[in-house]
Amino acid sequence: MQVRSLALVGLLLIAAAPQSQTPAPAQQPAPSTTPRPLPPDPHKYDLLLQGGHVIDAHNNLSAVRDVGIKDGKVAAVETHLDPKDALKTIDASGLYVTPGLVDIHVHVYAGTGEARSYAGDLSLYPDGFMPRVGVTTVADAGCAGWRNFEDFKQRVIDRSRTRVLAFINIVGNGMRGGAYEQDLNDMQVEPTASMIKQHKGLIVGVKTAHYAGPEWTPVERAVEAGTIGDVPVMVDFGTNHAERPLAELVTKKLRPGDIYTHMYSGLRGELDPTGHVNAGMIEGRKRGVIFDVGHGGGSFAWRIAVPAMKEGFIPDSISTDIHVGSMNSGMKDMLNVMDKFLAMGMSLDEVIRRSTWNPAHEIKHDELGQLSVGAGADVAVLRLERGKYGYVDMFGARMNATQKLICELTLRDGKVVYDLNGLSRPDWKSLPPDYKTTGNPHWDGIVGSAGSNAPATTGTGTTNRR
Ligand SMILES: [Zn+2]
Repeated sequence: MQVRSLALVGLLLIAAAPQSQTPAPAQQPAPSTTPRPLPPDPHKYDLLLQGGHVIDAHNNLSAVRDVGIKDGKVAAVETHLDPKDALKTIDASGLYVTPGLVDIHVHVYAGTGEARSYAGDLSLYPDGFMPRVGVTTVADAGCAGWRNFEDFKQRVIDRSRTRVLAFINIVGNGMRGGAYEQDLNDMQVEPTASMIKQHKGLIVGVKTAHYAGPEWTPVERAVEAGTIGDVPVMVDFGTNHAERPLAELVTKKLRPGDIYTHMYSGLRGELDPTGHVNAGMIEGRKRGVIFDVGHGGGSFAWRIAVPAMKEGFIPDSISTDIHVGSMNSGMKDMLNVMDKFLAMGMSLDEVIRRSTWNPAHEIKHDELGQLSVGAGADVAVLRLERGKYGYVDMFGARMNATQKLICELTLRDGKVVYDLNGLSRPDWKSLPPDYKTTGNPHWDGIVGSAGSNAPATTGTGTTNRR
């Protein structure tokens, strides 16, 4: 895009923006992740997660450890930390302590009011769905293109407590459905690349999706924009076409580091006619192409996944493709997709690796998905339940299983943002008869902050310190 045409682009933008997507009036400053200044606390740790089994793939750690957190960061991971050094200690024994989960295929461009659109009603607000399943970082998979990315940013990204990153759609209008996503003329390299450069680190890749034609154009333009922007491309390969076979995509068109999502859909010849993994996918993986689950409502079948896993073709990253349509089908949430890999025999350590460190690394956010000392304290505390469970695929076929992950606790930047069974809370009977707000804003991101931007009160604070 040349400078002289920028004004024109501005006009086009205004002209192209549907009524429902005109930017909302200026809002109050985003409340979410901006830490409020707190009076300093003398304890070495704000929060101590005691005795949990830590799984940190980046550091090759899978063992019982204490995790100390201070000022929103991991301060210590040791076999023993003294609770006296902590403002708050949480007993995590019998639980798994992992980096906050990273889901790189979600749809969260909600709130535009556009019906039947991923840039609208089919998307969901991340804060309503992510903390409760241990997910602290998501990457939106192409709901917005360069024409509506700024709207998406101010409407959802800037206001969410969940860390929201994004693949920008090569289609300027993003995933507005129907004709929009088939319009080759709206797949423009230059404005897409310049939006990536404007939002380096926030836009983590380029998405191409849902294309029904026989041309390679969407993939080629996405790769071109990704090359200029120095980010990976994520491909939903749309309708299968003999003119553009999967093998050619992953062995020739994509670059190492580019991501093929919906790997177990079976919709584009992921298994060859003899029932074996497409030789092109094996070759593509050797070249460094990444394979991602992207379960969704129609992209995960047991009859594809099970034989592929048996042949060793396992996912680099586990992701949901969660949206309003998929999350009440066979796919429920991130933990449900992880459970499916446990059910197929993958070890918990490997499931966690593919839901934390691997996806963070794929989107070039190596500071995420790990629990090194100094890393941001995004943490999931999970319980592995044993019992009788069933997991359902895109065709409504069930696999019986005996394990299920439950999210007990989620920390975002060192603050408790979800606590299923009140592990961080005091027994009400231990409190004064007239008790009011419990907790302490050094570690508590719920009480006093939920549903309001008002500063959290310190509360009584003393009886629940351990
Ligand atoms: Zn998707």
